[in-house]
Amino acid sequence: MSSIGKLTQAWSRAAWSASPLVVPMVLIAAGVALLLGGAEQRILTIFLINMIAVVATGIYVGNAGIMSFGHVGFMGLGAYASALLTIAPETKAAVLPNLPGFLAAAHFGFIEAIVIAAIVVGIVALVIGVPISRLSGSAASIATLGLLVIVHSVLIGAKDITRGSQTFFGVERLTTVPILVVAVAVTIFAARLFRDSATGLELRASREDELAARAMGVDVGRRRLAAWVLSAMLMAVAGALIAHFLGAFSPKKFFFVDTFAILAMLIIGGLASVSGAVTGTVIVTLLTEAARRIEEGSLPGLIGLPQAFGLTQIVLGLGILLIMYRRPGGIFGLAEIDDWLFKRPLPEPATIDRPAAPPADAALVVEDVSKNFSGLVALDRVGLVVRPGEIVGLIGPNGSGKTTLINAASGVVPPSSGSVRVDGRETTRLPSHAVARLGVGRTFQNIRLFKDLTVFDNVRVAASASGRGGGQPDAEAMAALEDLGLAGLAGRRAGMLAYGEQRRVEIARALALRPRYLMLDEPAAGMNPAESDALVDLLHDLRNRYGLGLLLVEHDLKLVMRLCDRVVVLNKGQVIASGTPDEVQQDPAVIEAYLGRRPVRDGALRAGGSR
Ligand code: ADP
Ligand code: MG
Repeated sequence: MSSIGKLTQAWSRAAWSASPLVVPMVLIAAGVALLLGGAEQRILTIFLINMIAVVATGIYVGNAGIMSFGHVGFMGLGAYASALLTIAPETKAAVLPNLPGFLAAAHFGFIEAIVIAAIVVGIVALVIGVPISRLSGSAASIATLGLLVIVHSVLIGAKDITRGSQTFFGVERLTTVPILVVAVAVTIFAARLFRDSATGLELRASREDELAARAMGVDVGRRRLAAWVLSAMLMAVAGALIAHFLGAFSPKKFFFVDTFAILAMLIIGGLASVSGAVTGTVIVTLLTEAARRIEEGSLPGLIGLPQAFGLTQIVLGLGILLIMYRRPGGIFGLAEIDDWLFKRPLPEPATIDRPAAPPADAALVVEDVSKNFSGLVALDRVGLVVRPGEIVGLIGPNGSGKTTLINAASGVVPPSSGSVRVDGRETTRLPSHAVARLGVGRTFQNIRLFKDLTVFDNVRVAASASGRGGGQPDAEAMAALEDLGLAGLAGRRAGMLAYGEQRRVEIARALALRPRYLMLDEPAAGMNPAESDALVDLLHDLRNRYGLGLLLVEHDLKLVMRLCDRVVVLNKGQVIASGTPDEVQQDPAVIEAYLGRRPVRDGALRAGGSR
């Protein structure tokens, strides 16, 4: 399909996905605007602005899985930036006499001001986002908190531009309900477009398991940065709209109280979906409105109630507690409302051709690799070569360094010394996503699926992130699932599958990378004999069909001896033997290390004799 065709497809899909949220919102907005009075219209306006802010924040928080306390700062920047652009120069000369020249002279229409503010804030977010996107989890969250405080201080400090902590006023009230409705629709649409894009999917995968996402070729930092900038720009739009609704504001409008309110809406509705963000905004608005009326004593029938100051905040706090206790994923959890409304067929699998013959010297080469973990020598000058089309077994007692070797070769754990080369290219210091993109796939000893994503999405991540397929990741993902006999489970949540199935999904996911080399860390662990027999046939078949170089770590010696062309034996981080299965089985050093005792009888290690 052409790239234009793909774009149209993605846009129309996002439009359909957004419609169950946008259509009711438009109807409600129209109803309130036409039928109800000024007080309700005010509530509606704030509700719609909040919805933009919550959905925008969710683009980053929901997809990246990183709580951000800083987004309201972008809203503040957008508010001030847009206001400075729309206020007439004469007014500015009177109110803000010390404005820098270009700001003093600037005079734009409302929509232009919104767009410029969004772009400016986008650039600011890009600069700030580069270091933040390298952080994960709570370190990143704390950085966003720092950001909020810094933006607040800057707004207060830049007195000539913002009037400091004093009220900034004179902003024309240009925000109308129709403009808001369009802005909300655009925001929801953008959020769905992002969520369903390859970038969004890869980011959600990193939310589930960052290490595994990287090993599938996902450049996590870049994906985070994309979400961060997009969400910051939409926050700036929300800021511009609130500025031109209130007419006057000060930096404290864009600080902790609003941060808390927006995060409460997001958490209560459900962090991980756009539907959750929208629902949360609706519910919290209704709750706080009710609380406010009780507080004011203006709810009919409750006239006699004493005033309860801070009731709104208490209601929000209790709402979060209740949700965390009963439904940690929020009301919507992971699903989107359109997942239930529209059944989308799975794509047809692509026919995967056998890849072109690799160059004669193609190989995954591990040379002299050592790895120390604070004193413990996990690998000691290990060397190993895997060529395309070859199955190499890697065996050794527990703790001998097999997994560490796979980690070192896949860029997950950088070696302390030595080198790793993929088809002649030095990869020793490359991040794991770059190694994956060079065609090195892997699975994990302790299964690391993206548990909350579907089986199909798990595999699709690798197909799209690796960039090694034919540019049709959906069909390639289906093909990989068919190879592993998993097509029937494509729509299931990966975390719900049986153990053996999960192991196969991991292999399918690594296969969807279109690797030249595939490293499997104990793929048969936890499988019953029938399953592991089937696995042997499958691996044989995959090697033959795709010319894969397989590195197989396995405890089941029978399986190793049946399948492998060569076997390398590790003990205490050192290679103690390597050769054909027959040679290795008769090596006295192997027998001693592996069985922990002297050779018995004729000195042969009985295949499958022991674990
Ligand atoms: P195997 O896969 O052969 O069972 P591993 O590669 O998992 O062995 O472990 C080799 C040795 O390195 C073990 O002693 C293990 O405790 C240690 N090790 C592995 N990973 C780490 C780590 N991240 N930090 C500290 N020690 C580690
Ligand atoms: Mg291991």
